[in-house]
Amino acid sequence: MDTGAVELVASRICAAARVTVMTGAGVSAASGVPTFRGAGGLWREFRAEDLATQCRVVTQNVDDLHLRAGTPDVIRLHGSICELCCSARCGQPRWRDERVPLTEMPPRCPRCGRLARPGVVWFGESLDTAAVAAAERAASCDVFLAVGTSSLVYPAAGFMHEARDRGAFTVEINPEATAVSDLVDVALPAGAEVVLPRIEALLTAGSGNIA
Ligand code: NAD
Ligand code: ZN
Repeated sequence: MDTGAVELVASRICAAARVTVMTGAGVSAASGVPTFRGAGGLWREFRAEDLATQCRVVTQNVDDLHLRAGTPDVIRLHGSICELCCSARCGQPRWRDERVPLTEMPPRCPRCGRLARPGVVWFGESLDTAAVAAAERAASCDVFLAVGTSSLVYPAAGFMHEARDRGAFTVEINPEATAVSDLVDVALPAGAEVVLPRIEALLTAGSGNIA
């Protein structure tokens, strides 16, 4: 991997007031969660508290690994597999149940007794409008990183283009080429588990060490 390119990304993050990270299945791959279209790796998360920047994480993932890593205020575009909701939409708010396997199969709504379903967006369903609006706001940033996503699923894939149109410095971290690899300012062709620790190390070392 091009060391100069990693240093360039770190320096842009260091200088940025607002950084947005769009993540996809690739950041969870090495944790044993298979992607839809790629290989695996070991996920390490930016620690927002270590950065003097406003760093929003927008994710398409439903595995809640960002939540478990302690990432604050994650925008979850496609919901969470750890949550259940009533299939009849009886008014019961979503509830968490992380037991594997669930104790009751099939799970039922505690309010109306009808079938429960995973709190994720299924193909053909609309995304939560508040999550989409939050992601659109996050696309107004100085640096936008697409990490571990094939950038094929919309509207998530569109936020990279919005950020770019609004003048953000754009970065892709993915071992495989994608539809946006030729569009971004810097494409780092390696796993998130390789690149993110290197960027983090440069940021932790301080801007004086960054080219
Ligand atoms: P995708 O499967 O389409 O693409 C995954 C991308 O990750 C690929 O481009 C692959 O090259 C890359 N990748 C593989 N290993 C990597 C690594 N170690 N580091 C960096 N990148 C790596 O996934 P997507 O773009 O997130 O979109 C697919 C849809 O599938 C989304 O809607 C998402 O909700 C869903 N999904 C979620 C999960 C999850 O929650 N973990 C898993 C599979 C699919
Ligand atoms: Zn119900």
